[in-house]
Amino acid sequence: MIVPPGSTIGIIGGGQLGRMLSVAAAQLGYRCHIFDPHEHPCAADVAAGVTRADYTDVDALSRFGAEVEVATYEFENLPAGALDVLERKLRPGTRSLAVAQDRAEEKRFIESCGVTVARWRQIDSLDDVRAAVAELGLPIVLKTRRFGYDGKGQAWIRSGADVEPAWETIRGKPAVAEAGVDFAAEFSVIVARWADGRHALWDSPENAHRNGILHRSTVPCGEACASQVAEAREAALRIADALGHVGVLTVEFFAAKSGPIVNEIAPRVHNSGHWTIEGAVTSQFEQHIRAICGLPPGSTDLTGAGASMENLIGQDIERWPQLVAEAGAHLHIYGKGEARPGRKMGHVTRVVSR
Ligand code: AMP
Repeated sequence: MIVPPGSTIGIIGGGQLGRMLSVAAAQLGYRCHIFDPHEHPCAADVAAGVTRADYTDVDALSRFGAEVEVATYEFENLPAGALDVLERKLRPGTRSLAVAQDRAEEKRFIESCGVTVARWRQIDSLDDVRAAVAELGLPIVLKTRRFGYDGKGQAWIRSGADVEPAWETIRGKPAVAEAGVDFAAEFSVIVARWADGRHALWDSPENAHRNGILHRSTVPCGEACASQVAEAREAALRIADALGHVGVLTVEFFAAKSGPIVNEIAPRVHNSGHWTIEGAVTSQFEQHIRAICGLPPGSTDLTGAGASMENLIGQDIERWPQLVAEAGAHLHIYGKGEARPGRKMGHVTRVVSR
């Protein structure tokens, strides 16, 4: 099915990813309609239409579905059941959503694809945490199965004394315990997949985190990651194929001594792919629109020798006057208002010339 330019694309979620998807879609002549429960979703500033309703509001979703030719989502904490009302208009489908929004389902699914994740155990009680410490050793990290992002809903256990505080930190919610991975670096594979199985991959960025939040993505990645990219790409494609995924899928990896280990997957465009806006011929946002609309894949070649993207988190955004004056720096401000600590307010990309 080809959704031609001039059509309306529905985007569920109106954050910065929805905003950058809308901008890319507009360039190709599409109109975007944002569905978001918040009062001022930042994507609404650049979209043709907005529905303000709860993600569980099946009537509102069904009206939204009637107004758009194709629908997509920009984050994964959505009720897969309610989105079923969009049926075949939803790309990627609810399968990708259901797998990616539950860390236990995600790990089971990735393992079923023959891909390695950190050793893990499902956690439903404090006794399970104690058993996980005994089986996995230390350190381990507890992560809530659902609604965790940017290091939220996580607690490390480095000694026996951390067991109960960690369980309290995650408030006794259903969780997974993961063995701490001793990695040299982190990187991601960003793949766009079409309904007929065609796919496109970008150079893999090396990702540096601060306080559990992505700080910087750099292309090309360093040697520790580069030597694992081929195996990681094969793993990411196996996962995308098994999901029947349509659109961009991001797989985050640890470059461990034993080889690439999947940290998590995101069934969507990803922060570690923001550099593609200026650093690649076709950005992850445009490619996602191309894939869900059935247009041909765009080139993912680099536009320069490489690129580096730095997130502007919280008060970092106050640097905008210097950044906007910096020759060659591509500044993106998301228009979100209050710069709360930990909030992604913008990013800046610098392309390395050849
Ligand atoms: P996540 O929200 O799961 O992506 O975790 C945020 C960051 O915490 C990751 O990018 C890693 O830097 C670190 N981290 C998460 N899980 C592990 C693990 N099992 N071993 C070592 N570091 C981890």
